[in-house]
Amino acid sequence: MAETLEIGDPPIVVTLKKSARARRFSLRISNVDGAVSLTMPKRAALRDAAAFAQDHDGWLRKHLDKRPDQIVPAFGGSVLLDGVAAPITLGAGRGVRFDAGVFYVPGKAAQVPAKLRAFYKTLARDRLAEASERYAKLVGRSFSRITIRDTRSRWGSCTSDGHLMYSWRLVMAPRAVQEYVAAHEVCHLVEMNHSDAYWRQVAAIFPDYKAQRGWLKKHGAELHRFQF
Ligand SMILES: [Zn+2]
Repeated sequence: MAETLEIGDPPIVVTLKKSARARRFSLRISNVDGAVSLTMPKRAALRDAAAFAQDHDGWLRKHLDKRPDQIVPAFGGSVLLDGVAAPITLGAGRGVRFDAGVFYVPGKAAQVPAKLRAFYKTLARDRLAEASERYAKLVGRSFSRITIRDTRSRWGSCTSDGHLMYSWRLVMAPRAVQEYVAAHEVCHLVEMNHSDAYWRQVAAIFPDYKAQRGWLKKHGAELHRFQF
C-alpha cells in the first residue's frame, strides 16, 4: 500500500511517492482520474511533505474543480458506447441488452454500474481480440494472450512475450479509436519501441492513426469519468 496523507476539508487524498532522484517536493494531478500524488526526496520528512501539500491546498482545489465531474451510470442517465451517449433504461430478462442506441439493464438500480461494466468487458474482449488477430495477420506475427483490464495510465500494452493488454473502457470510444489501439499494440509485436520504424509499421496497417491518437489525447479522460 502506498503511503497517503489527507489535507484540508473536504479532505484531498495525496499519495506519497518517495524517489531517490527527487531533489524537491512536487505535486501532480493525474489528468486521467484526478488522483493527486506528491513526489518527495527519499530522506525528506513526512511532516515537511504534509506542510508542502498543505501550502498548495488552494492550488490543488482550483485544479481539481476544473476537472470534469464523475458520472455514476444510472437509470435515466447515459453512458458512452462507440463514442455516442446511450440512454440507460430498465430492461427485462437477465442480461444487459443494447438495442438501437439504448441500453436495457434489468434488475435493481444499484446494480446498473456493475452490469454495464460486465457488458463492456465482454464486448471489449470480443472486439479487441478480433481486431488484434486481424492486425497480427497483417504484420505476420502472433500474440500469446489478451487481458482486458481497467487501467488508469494506458489504453493498451504489449509485452516482449506477446501478451496484449487493453482497457475495456476503449469500447466507449469511437470504433476507429478501438481499432487504432489494437493496431498500435499489435505493431509492438514487430517493434518493441516507438521508433520511426515502429510508426511506419503502424501507418502501413492503420494509415489514419494520427487522428485516432489525437482523439485519445483529447477525450481519453472523459472515458474515465464513468464510475462502474
Ligand atoms: Zn506503444
